[in-house]
Amino acid sequence: MVEGVGHAVDLLVIGAGPAGARAALRAHACGLKVLLVDENHDAGGQVYRPLPAGFSRSAGAPRSTEARAGDHLRAALRNAGVDCRFGHKVWNIGADLRTDLIGPDGSVSWQPRALLVATGTTERVVPFEGWTLPGVMGLAAATILLKSQNMLPGRRTLVAGSGPLLLAVADGILKAGGAVAAVVDLASRAEWLRALPALAGRPDLLWRGLQWQAKLRLAGVPVLYRHGVHAAEATNDGLRVQVHAVDATGRPLADGARRTIEANCLAVGHGLVPATDVTRLLRARHRYAAERGGWIAETDEDGRTSVAGVYLAGDGAGIAGAAAAGAHGELAALACAADLGRIGKAAHANERAGLLRSWTRPARFGHAMAGLMALREGAVAGIAGSTIVCRCEDVTRAEIDAAAREGARDLNQLKAWTRCGMGPCQGRSCGDVAGALLAPHAGSREAVGCFTGRAPLRPVSLAEVAGDYTYADIPIPKAAPL
Ligand SMILES: Cc1cc2nc3c(=O)[nH]c(=O)nc-3n(C[C@H](O)[C@H](O)[C@H](O)COP(=O)(O)OP(=O)(O)OC[C@H]3O[C@@H](n4cnc5c(N)ncnc54)[C@H](O)[C@@H]3O)c2cc1C
Repeated sequence: MVEGVGHAVDLLVIGAGPAGARAALRAHACGLKVLLVDENHDAGGQVYRPLPAGFSRSAGAPRSTEARAGDHLRAALRNAGVDCRFGHKVWNIGADLRTDLIGPDGSVSWQPRALLVATGTTERVVPFEGWTLPGVMGLAAATILLKSQNMLPGRRTLVAGSGPLLLAVADGILKAGGAVAAVVDLASRAEWLRALPALAGRPDLLWRGLQWQAKLRLAGVPVLYRHGVHAAEATNDGLRVQVHAVDATGRPLADGARRTIEANCLAVGHGLVPATDVTRLLRARHRYAAERGGWIAETDEDGRTSVAGVYLAGDGAGIAGAAAAGAHGELAALACAADLGRIGKAAHANERAGLLRSWTRPARFGHAMAGLMALREGAVAGIAGSTIVCRCEDVTRAEIDAAAREGARDLNQLKAWTRCGMGPCQGRSCGDVAGALLAPHAGSREAVGCFTGRAPLRPVSLAEVAGDYTYADIPIPKAAPL
């Protein structure tokens, strides 16, 4: 410990996905004393998710490209000897960058000279009647079940929403022996075709997407473009889901096709929202960028934020995908090493140029994908008044509209008015959609702003924060002189 403040380290990296893990490796190679922290039990993040603790692959079992990339990343961290704290959640960060973690052995503080934030994204679901029913889950959540537990989300799953996870999840279900009732995509075929030039920059990923589509066709799975989920209701043995034809903004067409699809699981997701909880807590400057997923902290090309000593990398800086995240993390780590004086200007410029080249193509691919899964205004406008938007606090759209009519003009006022965003997820699930609902009243997403960042960043118990103590240890302040 340093002066009772925290263990000293040059750079603390939050998040061990591709961005954070590669950042830690690069910073370690530059001679920085690095600490890599993640709440998961090992490195890999969302995309290279490790198997749960205690699980192992059976000998000879096929490994996906992602599983191999994850194993490679974890081996690189072990071989390099990077100091990692897995199973530790960052719940608070002070203005001096003192970072408080809670792990299996309780609470511990670190005092880094610099902080690199690589905390990824949160899945967005545009609410509809029935989205909180058992059997309805996020598309990204379905990837977790498939990847880490080799478990089907349901016997017969309806896959709906927008973006590349639609095809990835449908393919994963078929591969695991499940049935896909249909794929319901807000985007049109023409939108996918328009994205092709950007996607061609990564022919390997484009080829994989085309293979997924071919497999769906072979399996006879209907794919409904320009359709969205209108409502889901529970039946005796599953779900009955109403699906409507929509316009380009995602708004249901009054005279468009409607159908009902029976399934026992609905996996639905409308893109990813960059995680900004840490940068908001540190009061960094943010800007709204719909095409990158929503609010993001302002950075330069190397990930420097508006707060001295705080760097940002990966999808948390704007959705660009897993393939771009690693090079982005390394760029930010390199900038940090240069700023802390560990590498010279010439070495920095030289290595930076190579990293920028390896970031550009996958980032172009990722940005095109992010465009396909950007929030569609019509889908938000179509949310029914009785539908719950904030599921932690059970706040409905009608309550949000009423608060706006009574004068709530920004997200923080809405929170005080209705408790929207005040629950355990701290607005990570509802904030983006609530902001979009308020925007027509306030004039723009910029006017609505985002929730002020507050500790705890993750739910923690008082017992975890306080740790073991006896009453005799509690210092009793002397009475103030009269
Ligand atoms: C649930 C989910 C599933 C996804 N599945 C896929 C997929 O199958 N295929 C695909 O191509 N893309 C997938 N994506 C998108 C993919 O995650 C990203 O493109 C890629 O992983 C970005 O890498 P990253 O390093 O920026 O962030 P991530 O890989 O998301 O890594 C961020 C890490 O930060 C950690 N973290 C965040 N906050 C804290 C905190 N307070 N304390 C400690 N640790 C913290 C998280 O545990 C996580 O490991 C998924 C996204 C989500 C949200």
